[in-house]
Amino acid sequence: MSPENFRIPRRNGKRKKTETDLSFADTLRVMLEDLKSKLRTAYIEKVKGECVFCKMIEEENQKIIYQNDLIAVFPPLKSGALKEGHLLVVPRKHSEDIFEMEGSEAEEYFGQIKDIADKLKEKSRYSGVNILSANGKEAQQSIRHMHTHLILRENDDGYDMWPKTDYKGQSFKEVNKELSNLIKD
Ligand SMILES: [Zn+2]
Repeated sequence: MSPENFRIPRRNGKRKKTETDLSFADTLRVMLEDLKSKLRTAYIEKVKGECVFCKMIEEENQKIIYQNDLIAVFPPLKSGALKEGHLLVVPRKHSEDIFEMEGSEAEEYFGQIKDIADKLKEKSRYSGVNILSANGKEAQQSIRHMHTHLILRENDDGYDMWPKTDYKGQSFKEVNKELSNLIKD
């Protein structure tokens, strides 16, 4: 098709939008965005109000062994510790899980975990660490405030932290092929 006979189709039979229409639509859009933002803030405030980790951080609970602007570190609640040296690293800002965190927040957060792991390896008797984070109810996340378990390990401590399942590798190849394609997309 040459440029001469190429025509942009005209919209027939429809009233042309006036400036008044546009500004009304824009006003509605702004109002809607504002309402959505207010609802979201209200939702986060409500969840925060009921969140045990937010409460601990806000009240500077004495179980907190370390905190800075970004994170707080404390042992698991109740008797959830698997051994001594089992810690939770919790972002101060409430996000339910990794999916809800902004990219920059997640980067900073995992950077903090790296710093803590490095420091403890260098300075304590613990030379290894298991790092585990459950994200989503499907992944058995119990407290819906992002957190990561650091289970500090030392030589021949006698613990086995590796999860056991009955899976025999039946659909390994097919599923991995599918996942590979999804990651590449
Ligand atoms: Zn929270």
